[in-house]
Amino acid sequence: MNRFAFANARTISEAAVAASATVADAMTVSPEAMGRGETSVVKAGGIDLLDLLKEGLLVPSKVMNLREVPGLDVIVEEEGGGLRLGPMATLASLADHPLLQQRYAALAAALRGSASPQIRNVATLGGNLLQRPRCWYFRSHAYRCLRKGGGHCFAISGENQYHAIFNNAQCAIVHPSTAATVLVAAGATVELTNAAGTARQLLLEDFFVPPERDLQRENDLRPQEILTAIRLPKQPPTLRIAHVRQGEKDSFDWPLADVAIALDIVPDGICKRAAIILGAAAPVPHRAKTAEAALTGKRIDENAAAQAGRAALDSAAPLSKNAYKLPLFETLVRRAILKAVG
Ligand SMILES: Cc1cc2nc3c(=O)[nH]c(=O)nc-3n(C[C@H](O)[C@H](O)[C@H](O)COP(=O)(O)OP(=O)(O)OC[C@H]3O[C@@H](n4cnc5c(N)ncnc54)[C@H](O)[C@@H]3O)c2cc1C
Ligand code: SF4
Repeated sequence: MNRFAFANARTISEAAVAASATVADAMTVSPEAMGRGETSVVKAGGIDLLDLLKEGLLVPSKVMNLREVPGLDVIVEEEGGGLRLGPMATLASLADHPLLQQRYAALAAALRGSASPQIRNVATLGGNLLQRPRCWYFRSHAYRCLRKGGGHCFAISGENQYHAIFNNAQCAIVHPSTAATVLVAAGATVELTNAAGTARQLLLEDFFVPPERDLQRENDLRPQEILTAIRLPKQPPTLRIAHVRQGEKDSFDWPLADVAIALDIVPDGICKRAAIILGAAAPVPHRAKTAEAALTGKRIDENAAAQAGRAALDSAAPLSKNAYKLPLFETLVRRAILKAVG
């Protein structure tokens, strides 16, 4: 690991000023060139950031720690009944928080099922949403692929068993955040604050950036900007949310596939609105629009769930080694729907 200066930010503005580059921008420069420049990045829990530093994929001159910025880890109910989640709240503190357990049990369970107890005690929600992809070519020093500013995707014709089955023609990463799958289904928004203190808000779904918009970054975080809040809207009592995941291991690993469902079921049992989000399926959390349409206006039963499971795959284009994800997602969508209404 290269030497770098380390400092604790005391305010959001100090942290934003220090974030001279996003990690995505910094990683498109070759590590050799990066090591010669002045690049300063921010750190939350450090689980992903330190990995990149240890592998020599990211060579900043300074790391600014966000841990001591007051107020960034709060979890509170806002006026109007929505929840504000601080980006520095750890996955463990969120999973155990009574407000989340009462109002967003599916999110609390998804967080509890992510990674391992040791990691959840350190990893933050903000860092989780902003972690970089797990593609092994991306994580290896030996491959300078498209996402790192190189000229080729090695996964599309290579080892792609953990890669995308949707929107994988240019870069086949899957979005690595499990929490994002549920947060997008729940209609969460993010708040981003710049060095001047100006905040912008956007839907989390719109914050994520697919390869056709930009091949080198997974989100719309800008230099000198800090993620300062994740907001969950107040949900109507008729809304039911469920999340299911399937991995090779029960813990200590990212899922092979996960699905979050949000169904608004009116009192006569008809589904008024459906959100069906597939995780570990595409470069951004994937909205299965045909499956959502298949459920809207229907009474939810085994048949409707099975039909939506098939419809969820309508634009899937598996690569040479990941076609096993097709039946997996079909089953998970069906199960998640039945779990939501069960
Ligand atoms: C063995 C293992 C298993 C895992 N399993 C899962 C899993 O099942 N599901 C899952 O979702 N994840 C999983 N993870 C990933 C893990 O949850 C993330 O690496 C972690 O949440 C990152 O959070 P952090 O606070 O450590 O972020 P850091 O590593 O500190 O930061 C990550 C990125 O976010 C940026 N950043 C962080 N906070 C801010 C902010 N407020 N504003 C601007 N930029 C910011 C940093 O600059 C950096 O680029 C696993 C990790 C390991 C090692
Ligand atoms: S899938 Fe994306 S990150 Fe992986 S090798 Fe291809 S371009 Fe790089």
